[in-house]
Amino acid sequence: MAQTKEIPYKIYLEESELPKQWYNLRADMKKKPAPLLNPGTGQPMTLDELSVVFCRELAKQELDNDTKFIDIPDEIYQFYKMYRPAPLVRAYFLERALGTPAKIYYKFEGNNTSGSHKLNSAIAQAYYAKKQGLKGVTTETGAGQWGTALSMACAFLNMDCQVYMVKVSYEQKPFRREVMRTYGAKVTPSPSNTTNVGRKILEQFPGTGGSLGCAISEAVEAAVSQEGYRYVLGSVLNQVLLHQSVIGLEAKAALDKYGVKPDIIIGCAGGGSNLGGLIAPFMGEKLRGEADYRIIAVEPASCPSFTRGTYAYDFCDTGAVCPLAKMYTLGSTFMPSPNHAGGLRYHGMSSTLSELYDQGLMEATSVEQTSVFAAAEQFARVEGILPAPESSHAIRVAIDEALKCKETGEEKTILFGLTGTGYFDMVAYEKYNNGEMSDYIPTDEDIAKSLAKLPKVPGEN
Ligand SMILES: *Cc1c(COP(=O)(O)O)cnc(C)c1O
Repeated sequence: MAQTKEIPYKIYLEESELPKQWYNLRADMKKKPAPLLNPGTGQPMTLDELSVVFCRELAKQELDNDTKFIDIPDEIYQFYKMYRPAPLVRAYFLERALGTPAKIYYKFEGNNTSGSHKLNSAIAQAYYAKKQGLKGVTTETGAGQWGTALSMACAFLNMDCQVYMVKVSYEQKPFRREVMRTYGAKVTPSPSNTTNVGRKILEQFPGTGGSLGCAISEAVEAAVSQEGYRYVLGSVLNQVLLHQSVIGLEAKAALDKYGVKPDIIIGCAGGGSNLGGLIAPFMGEKLRGEADYRIIAVEPASCPSFTRGTYAYDFCDTGAVCPLAKMYTLGSTFMPSPNHAGGLRYHGMSSTLSELYDQGLMEATSVEQTSVFAAAEQFARVEGILPAPESSHAIRVAIDEALKCKETGEEKTILFGLTGTGYFDMVAYEKYNNGEMSDYIPTDEDIAKSLAKLPKVPGEN
């Protein structure tokens, strides 16, 4: 369709245009993502087994590779209305500053107190737990956005919320912790001595600042050892990508209104949930042969699961209590350098995205943190929004692609996900502003060391 209408700075959808269903990308994949395996038997996890850890409806969604559209329950839909539809912004000011003929759009997910897209899945997960009659949920949080999102969702639904927060973040981001407590969550720095697995890790690595993998193990143990609790996870899982599809559905609806088709779609990738959500409807068209898009996952050079990891079954957590997932991974014992400030530090990647990447349907690239913060500041100064460091990985590559267009004169349309705001990341910004931030790239040896500890899976690894 030809572009006829002038495109406004912000494209807002009407409240009535909020998607009423999530889109399950897996339904359009010919080769499905590899199933989660029971680490004891090596067999695919059954619904009953998954339901011990996750609440049942979410376990169903986790296993559902076939239902294309899933209704968004009304209570979740009502909650979404508080901060959705989220705006799609045409980055006119950034385009002008770069002097590029490229047309840049970003989908902004930072318009809520959690400051990120994570609320889209938090409310869904808290809702299904409540519907099952549970008392509460346990989880881990790294940078703090997921914990905040979940505490907001639990407060809304009157559920108990227990958050294991990676110790370095707990210490670096005291205000994040207070936001969670303000919403009624109980926050524990991880590793802690409140769980067996936490005590074991503390014994092995005294003084460790913790990791996401380790906080996950603690949160899972806390869930299965308390009556009426289940564990919830803010990324990586199929169910989370499903809930996040609301990002892509809205972005596509907004672009369709103006007859715009992106050439390049860019998102940062930690566990893959925002990227999986943003690309969902576009990737669906690609899988069905209806359209083609260049899709780029951006990860930090210090934690490069796609670009330097291996596609294999691995543990999702350090304590090896979770099911095995086949994914691009650096090994569950991989610990990113403590000097790494930009988030996205999970060792693995969504198995849905891993399968798509393995099939060559998307690309991945890695960027170093000083260049990420340079892009963040350039963006903040012209577009106003102070971006989260995670989101700034996508900004970096969007700017780089726009600058390539400047060289070639191509008028490409670029869409990227601006997943959140960075108000709680000022320690990292301060480091950057003081010229004290450095780049860290793990050696091949570092990566080989943690990959050597991948679990042995008959017929697989
Ligand atoms: C959690 C988070 C990410 C990364 O997680 P994904 O699951 O890869 O999307 C990116 N940006 C922000 C702001 C986040 O909070």
